[in-house]
Amino acid sequence: MDYLEIEQRLGANNYKPLDVVLSRGQGIWVWDVDGNRYMDCLSAYSAVNQGHCHPKIVKALTEQAAKLSLTSRAFRNDQLGLFYKELCELTHSHKVLPMNSGAEAVETAIKTVRKWGYKTKKVAENKAEIIVCDNNFHGRTITIISFSSDKGARDGFGPFTPGFKSIPFGDAGALKAAINENTIAFMVEPIQGEAGVIIPPEGYLREVRQICTDNNVVLILDEIQTGLGRTGKLLAEAHEGIEADMTLIGKALSGGLYPVSAVLSNTEIMDVLNPGEHGSTFGGNPLACAVARVALKVLVEENMIENSAVMGDYFLNGLKSLKNPFIREIRGRGLMIGLEFEPGKIKARTYCEALKEKGLLCKETHENIIRFAPPLVINKEDIDYALAIIQEVIG
Ligand SMILES: *Cc1c(COP(=O)(O)O)cnc(C)c1O
Repeated sequence: MDYLEIEQRLGANNYKPLDVVLSRGQGIWVWDVDGNRYMDCLSAYSAVNQGHCHPKIVKALTEQAAKLSLTSRAFRNDQLGLFYKELCELTHSHKVLPMNSGAEAVETAIKTVRKWGYKTKKVAENKAEIIVCDNNFHGRTITIISFSSDKGARDGFGPFTPGFKSIPFGDAGALKAAINENTIAFMVEPIQGEAGVIIPPEGYLREVRQICTDNNVVLILDEIQTGLGRTGKLLAEAHEGIEADMTLIGKALSGGLYPVSAVLSNTEIMDVLNPGEHGSTFGGNPLACAVARVALKVLVEENMIENSAVMGDYFLNGLKSLKNPFIREIRGRGLMIGLEFEPGKIKARTYCEALKEKGLLCKETHENIIRFAPPLVINKEDIDYALAIIQEVIG
């Protein structure tokens, strides 16, 4: 079977995957159709933090699928309330709105906070403004790309949704200066993932929190990638001891078995929504809820969050012994690690292809950055194995 040829001929050309055709996964490992084994150092962009096909999540999925999968929200189901309860307890949230993809969670937050802006903050009709950061990644819908600074994400897709203002990431002063009477929210990733694992200066989130509080501006943290253990804490906001007003999670919320996302919010903001104003056929379905409940449970019970912190440090230190003269910076928090080369000197893609040949899968972001983000179940021996391959390929 020529998988590549079929995909090329019949599929939309909106991705440029590495030429590896996977058919099986377990923990940090995946196997291709020829039986070759690879270590997964991407984790489906941090959706499989719990490792591929975690047996307990697979069990929950199959058992629930055989019982009841979808009711729509026209009726209630016996999983949704428990999902709310467990998620709120774990994250200290007041209210949850369940959706499916990350982009839907972002859209939901935008709608909700706009409504809050008009109903509660009393911003003039259609004037509400949301501040975001340059080089953000929040998803692919028309509204979300409307505030992207990535040319490729926007070109040819206009007209765009108004109501957004973009400022430099990591600059609390710029936030303060950008706020006006129409500002309703500031939406930001605690660490910019797709931009290349960009970590803001120490204290940034604390300052941002204070500025938002002082100006009655809702702080929305997009933790779809940084959340659920990826950075060594349950939520990346915990690195600076702050709490967002709204938090977006997705990806690893299901351990990669099903699309599940959620908006976590305080009561005041979420309570502006009334029946009929927002929803999703699949959002909050019993299958999604059963899967997410177990995905959260194993994350905590199997100490994956602590493991991410410890193994992340170990991985990062190991990478720092690389001798490649074109390395500009190696940075990371937990198991979210970026290896940046001098721009123009090195094609990160070439290294990713060479790493694949040696049995390690990862993906470049931009021309010159490689992201290492293995499942959070990785151990020291596995990292030593990965480091040996990386040393061989990158030097
Ligand atoms: C992946 C991602 C999204 C979008 O999630 P999808 O499920 O692909 O729609 C949004 N924000 C961040 C920070 C992400 O990493």
